[in-house]
Formats: sequence, C-alpha cells, structure tokens
Amino acid sequence: MSGALQSRPVTIVGGGVAGLTAALALRRRGAEVTVLERAPAIAEVGAGLQLSPNAMRVLDALGLGPALDAMSLPSRAVRLRDAQGAEVVRLDLARHRPDARFRLIHRARLIEVLEQAALSAGARIELGRDVATPPDGPLLIGADGLHSRIRAALNGREVPFFTGQTAWRAVISHEDQTPEAQVFMGAGRHLVSYPLAGGLRNIVAVLETRDWQDEGWSHPDDPANLRAAFADFRGPVPDWLAQVHAVHVWGLFLHQVAARWQDGRMAILGDAAHPTLPFMAQGACMAIEDAWILAASLDATPDQATALSRYENLRKPRTSRIVAAARDNARNYHLSGPKRLAAHAALRIGGLIAPSALLSRFDWIYDFDPVAEAG
Ligand SMILES: Cc1cc2nc3c(=O)[nH]c(=O)nc-3n(C[C@H](O)[C@H](O)[C@H](O)COP(=O)(O)OP(=O)(O)OC[C@H]3O[C@@H](n4cnc5c(N)ncnc54)[C@H](O)[C@@H]3O)c2cc1C
Repeated sequence: MSGALQSRPVTIVGGGVAGLTAALALRRRGAEVTVLERAPAIAEVGAGLQLSPNAMRVLDALGLGPALDAMSLPSRAVRLRDAQGAEVVRLDLARHRPDARFRLIHRARLIEVLEQAALSAGARIELGRDVATPPDGPLLIGADGLHSRIRAALNGREVPFFTGQTAWRAVISHEDQTPEAQVFMGAGRHLVSYPLAGGLRNIVAVLETRDWQDEGWSHPDDPANLRAAFADFRGPVPDWLAQVHAVHVWGLFLHQVAARWQDGRMAILGDAAHPTLPFMAQGACMAIEDAWILAASLDATPDQATALSRYENLRKPRTSRIVAAARDNARNYHLSGPKRLAAHAALRIGGLIAPSALLSRFDWIYDFDPVAEAG
C-alpha cells in the first residue's frame, strides 16, 4: 500500500456488487468515496450466486469472510446430470480442492454485507441518483451494469445481439440442502440448481428459443411456461419446478468486452466493462476481482492515468478469456444426438479415471489470486 489514494475524492456510479466492492476497497485505502445509485433503496431481485475462490480471496482480504460464511453455504461438488437425472459426472470440490472456498449465497445477502461494510468504513451512498451523463470530479468509476452510461461515454453505443437463449430464474423453499450445484443437460436446454442458506434453493433454467425476450432481470413470467419447457426433465426437477410460485425471465444477449475501459479520469468495472453470459458463474466474481485491482492500482501509483492504464491492462485479457469460456460452455451443455452421447461418455470416463484433471480445466479461473496480483 503506497497510500496514493489517501483523502482523494472518488465518485462511483452504481451500487451493485461491483460498485459496493469498489467503494469498500477504495475507502479502506483512504479515498473519500461517494456512491450514486439509481434505485431508491439497495434491494435485489431474489436470486443466488456462486462465489468461487478467486473472488473469495478478495472478500476475505476485505474482512468479510466471517459475515459471508454466516449467510452462505459451502459448495462441495458440481454434479452434471442428463435430462433424465442420470449422473454424467460429479466433480468433487471438497475432495480435490479441500482448501478452496466455493460458496453459494443469495445475492441480497452479499449486497447487504457489502453495503454495511462500505457504510461502516465511511463511504457515502446516495440513493435515487439516476446518473444520465458522467458527473464532474477528478476520478469517476462506472459500476452501472449492463446498460452502463459510463461505458457508453467512453466507447459510444454498443448493440448487443440476442443469443437465441431465454433464461428463467427462481428461488424456492426446499428442504434438500445437499451442498452442491447440479446441472441437468438436455438438448437445447439446461437447468442449474443449488441450495441457499435459510432453506432456499436457486434455479436457473436456459432454453434455446427463437422468441425474443427483453434483456434485463425484472420480467415476471408465468411459472407454467418454465414447467412446460422442462416438462420432460426427470430426477428432482419436476418436484423443484412444482414449487416455483414466482419466476423472472429474460433474453441472453452477447456483448463485446468494452474496447476502452478508462480515459485517465473515468474507468469502468463489472458488467459495465465485460457483461458475460452466466455459464461460468463468474460475472459477480470478475466484478469483485476488478474492484480490488482497481483500488490497489490507484493506491500504488500516484499518477492516475498510469494507474488506470495498469488496471485496464491487468484486467482486459483475463475477463475477455472468461467471457469467451462462458460463451463456449452454453454450447457444451446443450448438445443433442450423437454429439451429446459422445460428450457425456467422455465426461463419465474422465470422471472415473481422472476426476481431478476434469476440475483442473478451470484452475486458471479459480486459482487466480487478485490480492497477490495487485498487492
Ligand atoms: C442468471 C444469472 C446467473 C448468475 N450467476 C452468477 C454466479 O453464480 N456467480 C457470479 O459471479 N455471477 C453470476 N451472475 C452475474 C452477476 O450477477 C453480475 O455479473 C453482477 O451482478 C454484475 O455486477 P455489477 O455491479 O457490475 O452490475 P449490477 O449488479 O447490474 O449493478 C449495477 C448497479 O448500477 C445501478 N445503475 C445502473 N445505471 C445507473 C445510473 N445511470 N445511475 C445510477 N445507478 C445506476 C443499478 O441500479 C445497479 O444497482 C449471474 C447473472 C445472471 C443473469
């Protein structure tokens, strides 16, 4: 810590995972932080998040580990099953990665922990502040999500395109708290589910369809549509779907990683910089990594332009690679016909003879330590 952030004013647009983590990380290094959040209250659409060790290293370094542990469940395995419920492979995280912190948490709980910590550290959060154009100030951070105005100010307007996939998201009350994420893979469809603390269970279901859905999170749908789309899935799926009383639906759009992340005064992070499809469960994790590395870069280098350019250089290659991996994963989950049989057979054999090798495909994501990388 060189202390270059001491007493410097920073304005952050957006109080989601990226904005609140950045507020805390910057405040801990002495910056005078103000968060401008559009919503009248910090509130969250009910949904779960998987947090992997790369993000947990940051949250632990920020001192949030005990609070998060109390509100989340450990994830001990990832179980891939076919649409009939038969197991394809079980990746045993507890056995092969005993020290790695994979946690399952409700988004609202993560936001609460971050908000409380940011406020206690002395950050100001102004609610009901819809920022139309970048405000003045020597250092402006855009954490304003998918339709970021700060990204647009740096890059111009971007036109994303529809991936042909529709996703539903629901949280149900359910007694099955087996601490693992399960992925059910069918032709052109998959469904992911995992438990959340407090007797809840998160469900995300993705269907390839030509029907266009608006991008965004808050489109309520009739649970009957979700049940109809996954009517031939077996195992625990029919029971889970029968419990769905409220569901949100949205279209999945492909975005480019922003070409320009900063201009010496403004910088973007999180979904504002690199919106991703959800198939690697890394959107919030990348936002948390960004926040730490942005704060550490600014603190280590008194020249702001140099610090922001270092931040961009450190983050762009990694986030681009993760966004590409998420795009490829959708294809793997939705195979049909002979390709599916061959891929599932290969996974089954891989799981029998070299389970650890299957897991290590993504070591480059989970072993990354933002705290060691940026100091
Ligand atoms: C189905 C699904 C499953 C997912 N699962 C996972 C997972 O398991 N693990 C994981 O790591 N990630 C997951 N993600 C991704 C993750 O939720 C996002 O990547 C993450 O929330 C991005 O955080 P953010 O702070 O950048 O953006 P957001 O959470 O969108 O926050 C942006 C904030 O800015 C505010 N804002 C926007 N515009 C303005 C404005 N003009 N003025 C003021 N305020 C503004 C908004 O109100 C909001 O509070 C998932 C996403 C989806 C869709």
